[in-house]
Amino acid sequence: MNAREQASVPHALQAVRAQFPILAQTVRGKPLVYLDSAASAQKPLAVLDAMRAFELHDYANVHRGVHVLAQRATDAFEAARARVAAFLHAHSPKEIVFVRGATEAVNLVAQSFLRPRLRAGDEVLVTAMEHHANIVPWQLVCEPVGATLRVLPMSDTGALDLDALPGMLGPRTRLLAVAHASNVLGTVNDVARITRLAHAHGVPVLVDGAQAVAHLPVDVQLLGCDFYAFSGHKLYGPTGIGALWGRAELLDAMPPYQGGGDMIRSVSFERSTYADAPARFEAGTPNITGAVGLAAAIDFVQGVGWDAIAAHEQALLELAQGELEAIAGLRIYGTTPGKIGVIAFNVEGMHAHDLGTIVDALGVAIRAGHHCAMPLMQRYGVAAMARASLGVYNTADEVHALARAVRKAQAMFAG
Ligand code: PMP
Repeated sequence: MNAREQASVPHALQAVRAQFPILAQTVRGKPLVYLDSAASAQKPLAVLDAMRAFELHDYANVHRGVHVLAQRATDAFEAARARVAAFLHAHSPKEIVFVRGATEAVNLVAQSFLRPRLRAGDEVLVTAMEHHANIVPWQLVCEPVGATLRVLPMSDTGALDLDALPGMLGPRTRLLAVAHASNVLGTVNDVARITRLAHAHGVPVLVDGAQAVAHLPVDVQLLGCDFYAFSGHKLYGPTGIGALWGRAELLDAMPPYQGGGDMIRSVSFERSTYADAPARFEAGTPNITGAVGLAAAIDFVQGVGWDAIAAHEQALLELAQGELEAIAGLRIYGTTPGKIGVIAFNVEGMHAHDLGTIVDALGVAIRAGHHCAMPLMQRYGVAAMARASLGVYNTADEVHALARAVRKAQAMFAG
């Protein structure tokens, strides 16, 4: 069976699609084809229902109340933390800090872990394919002290040059920050190997898992890293919630990131003392309903199963790459084996924004722009790329619709 046939086969995942009513609509008079899950995935009914049920029956603020609803809400919030811990194979829920998303997780590590350790002349190692969320937070702490970023290079196909890595790790390297999967190229980086090399030089590793968590199982013990960051909304969960996993001994030694309620042990005007991790990093009322939704999203993906998700997405990816590559003048960026379902491309003679606008008129939602990876755009010498990204709910018909829409856009431009 070739990829096209496989992706067209009635599949257990067709029942999954029915979980996403938002997809069953027409836009601009055409059936909606949603190929922008890398920006934000849609939410299944199970997630929406869990959040609604929580708000209807159990909602209150967490950690502070003695009344029944406060206890129920606290139990739900802490149960969600335990779900995230199990999802990442953390040793303990105490290693999970709830944050707004991957962006806040990286900023937390930059401010609380890195900043106190950073001196003039120190280096932070990032890679050529990082999202701005895994570049700018490091710059914010490097610049004031005179530390610098160094950049691990990559090949044209989108593979990091791991042979160059040992030579870039030195006595001044304070941290290595790398994406588990690229939001542009789809590359899945060999984080376990990267971590081994970094640890051999005593360098801690933060992994930006924003694009990985919806596509492959994550085991922080196997990866061997020190911090792992992700966002709920790329995992079929809500926005405004995500998690930072950090090794307990590192989190325990880190100072607070923000001050406020819930992160203290005692407060006086002279001096305050702080709660243990993770509460120390969760000042203020958290996104309680978001955490409940995130737990439901984890249950959803685990219910579908990683094997089914990977088989479906890989079949669709192969189909999409085949159909797009057959279009004259179309270039795909990122062709490493084992990539996730993210396809960035350009069509000769067309700006990516024009392409995105024309295919939108045909009901096809893709993204066009720099994808918050301007240095990567510069690496390829382009200002922008179009990007189609796959989720568990996409179908072979939608891939055909994408290819048809791109061809039409090309014809309109030529004509
Ligand atoms: N890293 C990568 C690789 C991403 O794709 C994104 C989201 N586009 C982020 C980090 C930031 O995620 P968020 O905006 O949810 O904080």
